[in-house]
Amino acid sequence: MAGAGPVGLMLACELALAGVRPVVLDRLTERSTEQKANGLAGQVVRLLDRRGLYEPLGGTGTPQPVPRFVFGAFPLDLREVEDNALYTLLAPQHRIEAVLEQRARELGIDLRQGCELTGFTDTPDGVTVEYRGPDGDRRLRARYLVGADGGRSTVRKLAGIGFPGVTAPDPVSLTTHAVLPDTVRTTDTGAFLLPGCPTPIAPFTHTRTEHGVVVVAPVSPDATILATMEWGRPAADEAAPPTLDELRASLLRVTGADLALAPAPAPFPQGVRRQAGHNTRLADRYRQGRVLLVGDAAHAHAAVGGPGLNLGLQDAANLGWKLAADVRGWAPDGLLDSYHGERHPIGARVYMHTQAQMALMSPGPGITAIRALFRELLAHPDNLGRIAALMAGGDVRYAVDCAHPLAGRFAPDLTVRTSQGAVRLAELARGARPLLVDLTGGEAGLADRAAGWKDRVDAVAADCPEAPAGALLLRPDGYVTWACDAGAADPEGLERALRTWFGAPRG
Ligand SMILES: Cc1cc2nc3c(=O)[nH]c(=O)nc-3n(C[C@H](O)[C@H](O)[C@H](O)COP(=O)(O)OP(=O)(O)OC[C@H]3O[C@@H](n4cnc5c(N)ncnc54)[C@H](O)[C@@H]3O)c2cc1C
Repeated sequence: MAGAGPVGLMLACELALAGVRPVVLDRLTERSTEQKANGLAGQVVRLLDRRGLYEPLGGTGTPQPVPRFVFGAFPLDLREVEDNALYTLLAPQHRIEAVLEQRARELGIDLRQGCELTGFTDTPDGVTVEYRGPDGDRRLRARYLVGADGGRSTVRKLAGIGFPGVTAPDPVSLTTHAVLPDTVRTTDTGAFLLPGCPTPIAPFTHTRTEHGVVVVAPVSPDATILATMEWGRPAADEAAPPTLDELRASLLRVTGADLALAPAPAPFPQGVRRQAGHNTRLADRYRQGRVLLVGDAAHAHAAVGGPGLNLGLQDAANLGWKLAADVRGWAPDGLLDSYHGERHPIGARVYMHTQAQMALMSPGPGITAIRALFRELLAHPDNLGRIAALMAGGDVRYAVDCAHPLAGRFAPDLTVRTSQGAVRLAELARGARPLLVDLTGGEAGLADRAAGWKDRVDAVAADCPEAPAGALLLRPDGYVTWACDAGAADPEGLERALRTWFGAPRG
């Protein structure tokens, strides 16, 4: 694998849990300190809970849907939304990477830092990878090569995989961790009153004015993330480092507030980050021969609503068990290709909604009119729920040969009673193995039917009177491949699903 960013590390852990030890190359000798993600949003939070990583990343208790979120600078009040799929976890990217790296090291991953992939040759039976490391140029031979090497992916370029999409010159975004002056007050609701700005600015959300967008997010008593976005500005001098004065002037243009800003103390990131324009692109293939792409190597989009790691870490969970099945020799026909088949359309949906959000945030009277209409549509909980599901990835339904309403969907986190006591499905899923959850009380011998797969599929007999199914077959990435209702067990359907997803029975 090339790339030990969050997605490469997650994939390495998934492969190791499935019994395959990848070699992971990263060109950096130590972790980047670049300011990137501030948190995780969407179904990925529940996925990480299913790997026991929710608490190490700072979560407490069990993940709960978030009552409020933002889409295209519209505040979303999700309290009335049924089955709200949006979960969030505030965790800076360096922490996410540190936790994943520690997990990877515990799992014995061969992580080679300071090693840059420079070339490869893809042949029918394997890939020869060339890399430059501390000891000079080296080669290694592997069954597959995965490019988890970020938006400028060398693997993608060398493979000749197209990356169509748009590169827009707008907006210019400036972000810093600052100490706000005493002249800034807050209202009872926690909104910020900036002197000179006529409207209160709600925290932790995008606020659109007729001149741009502002974000004020107090992440600690000592530090507030302050960000602006402006459209139609002259191109910034890339060589000139961005400054607090540049951000102050931008804030004045966007909000009318003139604030004397001071940098937040260490260990908060120092300095100002400037990004001019944004890319929205999607690889035209996630697999070519023995080369696969995951994470930002496969898709690039604006970071609105934090879609990057929701998409990338779930790519990793989708690919991990399939690639391991192929390497270990039990993958049924077409399993590895289903990685592109399942994940590429989801990348396309993120492409769509991030583009839509950027358009909705941009200035101009036409956009203001579209926003008025959109606001009316968002008054309906059904529409709110739809947007929340789109952002969370909760509307994903993979094509499976089973008509049960749960089939093809991310499994609900039921608490079931086994002979060992009460346990959540999220806890049973930690080993990242396929799982048959039989809640029928032994009806129709489902466990016997799955016995030929016991080297690959765990079976748990449990009780859960309020469960929305009598039995469920879960893939390692948390999706239901087959389910039946209580009193309507369907052993033939179960066997078909086992063969389709987990190969031929043994023994
Ligand atoms: C300002 C900003 C804010 C963001 N905010 C959020 C947010 O709040 N929530 C969210 O979910 N996402 C956010 N994102 C997006 C998120 O940071 C990315 O989606 C995420 O970093 C993608 O992870 P990755 O592992 O795919 O790629 P990367 O993090 O880019 O990692 C790629 C790795 O590959 C290595 N590499 C590159 N080339 C080679 C090579 N030739 N050989 C070996 N190694 C190589 C690199 O050194 C790097 O370690 C934000 C991004 C930015 C820029």
